[in-house]
Amino acid sequence: MTSLWQARSHLFNDRTAGDYHRRLAEGLRRVRDRISRVDRPFTGITPTQLAARIGRVDLDRPLGGAAAALDELEELYLRDAVYFHHPRYLAHLNCPVAIPALLGELLLSSINSSLDTWDQSAGATFIERRLIAWTAARIGFGRGADGVFTSGGTQSNLQALLLAREEAAHVSEPRVLTGAAGHFSVQKAAKLLGLGPESVVVVETGGDRRMRTDALAAELERYGGAVIAVVATAGTTDFGTIDPLPEIADQCALSGVRLHVDAAYGCGLLVSPTRRHLLDGIERADSVTVDYHKSFFQPVSCSALITRKGGDLRHSAFHADYLNPARVAAHLPDQVNKSIQTTRRFDALKLWLTLRIMGADAVGLLFDEVVERASQTWELLADDPRFEVAARSALSTVVFRFLPDEPELADQANRYARKALSASGAAVIAGTRVDGREFLKFTLLNPETTIEDVADVLDLIAEHAARYAALILEEPHVPA
Ligand SMILES: *Cc1c(COP(=O)(O)O)cnc(C)c1O
Repeated sequence: MTSLWQARSHLFNDRTAGDYHRRLAEGLRRVRDRISRVDRPFTGITPTQLAARIGRVDLDRPLGGAAAALDELEELYLRDAVYFHHPRYLAHLNCPVAIPALLGELLLSSINSSLDTWDQSAGATFIERRLIAWTAARIGFGRGADGVFTSGGTQSNLQALLLAREEAAHVSEPRVLTGAAGHFSVQKAAKLLGLGPESVVVVETGGDRRMRTDALAAELERYGGAVIAVVATAGTTDFGTIDPLPEIADQCALSGVRLHVDAAYGCGLLVSPTRRHLLDGIERADSVTVDYHKSFFQPVSCSALITRKGGDLRHSAFHADYLNPARVAAHLPDQVNKSIQTTRRFDALKLWLTLRIMGADAVGLLFDEVVERASQTWELLADDPRFEVAARSALSTVVFRFLPDEPELADQANRYARKALSASGAAVIAGTRVDGREFLKFTLLNPETTIEDVADVLDLIAEHAARYAALILEEPHVPA
């Protein structure tokens, strides 16, 4: 039996600060050693193998010490994790993380401030507010802007639609218009808000995978006063394309409809030294989603919703007796009145230390570098008859597919190549469907990924896909 004295020794306080330092240093050493040894983005382990290993752990029998628990964790997690910092991790919107942000992560979880009320956060509240104001200024919003950190783009989009819904509370069959390449969190938010299955109207995109403004005009005309918001995407998840923000803003202004810009991915352009103009028009939005954990090299979670009119956030407030009324009267700076969360992490500290140590320009340079790499990749693919490329990205994704000699095998061959690549661990890439066909996707967020890495991975894809096509012709039952 463990004693109360032993149990207390695990809590972080003045008496245990030395132990805190020793244990965390051990954790740091392990991560350092592991990272230095990672030679591929993934080991290719299967879910069955890992589930069995983790299932065998008896959670009612602690190992007693950090060293034993960390040894166990090597087997359960660290050895077979997916490593986003590896130059051949090319799959999703996961960035390598900035060390200043990791320093922030350590501090914020150790002190464990909660951003709901001033009396649980003190300075943290004002650090968050400064970063919101900083981001709003980068967007080009005026002085009345405000916002709040969120758990991610999904939550930011949900809150943006909540505000839109409340601003148009009188509308009986509300409609939200968004582009065909928009993020599914818009549909999910509509569902959570009870807007009804018909509420999200998908506006056609053109061959360039951007929202068509003629199609938007037609939908605005068709649904008239029922439209509570248009959601434009500044950086579509699949194609990295940016909807035509100035034209969309014009139409929204003309129709008196709210504009939300989902810049979860494209927000990195806010600090780009050369490509900031791609976001022109974003300053005319009513609200903007930014995911620092997508394109500011921040660890998950680090995101925000920014609103042009700070007052819009009042729709997120609820006056709980134990938290609010007297406090509001006393003008205490409680962030809970702006958030849909209550207890909330001080994620802003990561961005703060990033800006204070590296600076925004350094972040922008890194983001520019990956956008450049995607552009080089596009050129490589355009000149390579083995592949077909979908739309040209404004950001850092590349959507393409291998073209086998037998065109009818294209879908299976590409799916097979992606799985085979991941099972080998040589690279991790993503897949998506374009107009019903199977495509492959690179999301390039690592400035360490060279164009040679990309070329090598393309060769591997071509080998796997061609092998599949050859196999299937001999043995028609090979699973794709
Ligand atoms: C990733 C993404 C989201 C969702 O953000 P999370 O942080 O994953 O919740 C929303 N919109 C776009 C365009 C995205 O790329």
